[in-house]
Amino acid sequence: MPCPRINMLTISAALTLFAATLTFAQEPTRQRLPQSPPHHRPNELGWNLAPEDQKYAAIDGNHLMEFVKDQTAMSRHYRDNGHPQYWGRITGTDADAENAEWMMKKLKAIGLEDVHEQMFDLQPQWVPQAWKAVVSLNGKSIPLTSAQPAFLSKGTNGTVDMEAVYVGMASEAEIKPGPDVKGKAVFFYSNDTGSRHVGISDNAIKRLSDRGAAAIFVILGVPLDEKTQFYPVNAPVPAFSLGTKEGLAVRDMIGGAAKVGTENAPVHLQLNLDVKMRPGLKSGTVWGTLKGTTDENVVVVAHRDGWFEGANDNGTGVATFLGLAEYFAKVPKSQRKRTIIFAGTDGHHDNGAESGVWFLDHPEFFAKTALLFNSEHTGLKDTGLGLSAYSNAPSTYRWYAGDSPALLKVAIHALDAFGVPTFPDSLPTPSGETTRYYFLAPSVQIINTGYVWHSDKENDESISIPGMAAVTRAYAKIIADTDNIPLAGLRTKK
Ligand SMILES: [Zn+2]
Repeated sequence: MPCPRINMLTISAALTLFAATLTFAQEPTRQRLPQSPPHHRPNELGWNLAPEDQKYAAIDGNHLMEFVKDQTAMSRHYRDNGHPQYWGRITGTDADAENAEWMMKKLKAIGLEDVHEQMFDLQPQWVPQAWKAVVSLNGKSIPLTSAQPAFLSKGTNGTVDMEAVYVGMASEAEIKPGPDVKGKAVFFYSNDTGSRHVGISDNAIKRLSDRGAAAIFVILGVPLDEKTQFYPVNAPVPAFSLGTKEGLAVRDMIGGAAKVGTENAPVHLQLNLDVKMRPGLKSGTVWGTLKGTTDENVVVVAHRDGWFEGANDNGTGVATFLGLAEYFAKVPKSQRKRTIIFAGTDGHHDNGAESGVWFLDHPEFFAKTALLFNSEHTGLKDTGLGLSAYSNAPSTYRWYAGDSPALLKVAIHALDAFGVPTFPDSLPTPSGETTRYYFLAPSVQIINTGYVWHSDKENDESISIPGMAAVTRAYAKIIADTDNIPLAGLRTKK
């Protein structure tokens, strides 16, 4: 992310010069505009709590940020320990084990009971060992350093060489009259900037696969030249995402070759992707319990895994989860109605989502559950359309609150109490970790994402500390404000 201060100085200097030119006759010694002093508050969120909500100020964003930083450091530790290309808090790896230990230590220190890890055997895990992609024309080459294979991408058998073609946005209108893609490396541009999914650009990857492409590269239209990790895209050939700068350089190299009509010297791609499927790995759900005074419970889920530094996905969700544990551990037990059960799951970036499958297989677990929170992506900053700097606002949150009008009312009240910027209506279903089983209990989720989601730019700097605090406070208020609503009242369908 370029430094916003530099941009501001450049703009400021240009404006000063412009103003000086206009007014030269009157004010030849006009001074440069001063640099903006820092704002008094980092953000407008949560600074003016209503008297009845003052108690939630105990949930402190800067403190929560320490939990985020602990997790991003684990990712960097894993990267620097021999995994320079495919890294993060990846399920089944040393980073996963370190993360589970860290979470158990935190939950015990907070004072939770029955802290333990429920282990699962993982199916063989996709582990890309190394990859290299270079395009070249007439001795000039572009190493594709931002290329990142989509999860579960097929590998190559050693280094392969193929012609590279560009098909615009890979619509039918462009592919049909366009270059033959069979046996070639196909590059396409996508402005589907929020997608990390198989369906990107109206199923462009399927269209290209069906026509026999030998390798597929999505040039993701986010001008940060980030490395972006996609979910599985179901291509039968190697499939990669690519940063805009390098992707457009490939396009222009192909365009240049086509212009001079050098049919005998097309642009070539040399590609090597070494993939192994590793059997015998393990992961688990980390549990902790904060006892209440009834046999009813509230369940808080946060997935522990994440690609790259994963500051928002799911560093902030885990921070919110621990923040809730700390807040309610300080409430006297006699005032805690429902037991709160915390579950740090193995996550869903491994295509197995073992913790989630366990929940789905055990609906009886939720028999007395009043609320099920998905604590996920609670604090990414907004970049706006400029993408050149983060603003001081969090990216707008999507939210879900089911099943009853009573819960909906409480949730809206909590969102508004802390100024959480949101879309007006609840989503039809929550997204992410609890998608598989949210319907087994009255579920709540407040989540945001943005351009840097699943990328190597999703770092500490990308986090809105007040946004993360506001969502955590909203979750705490929803727990407290539903205490006196009976289970049946929360489960009454809308
Ligand atoms: Zn997530």
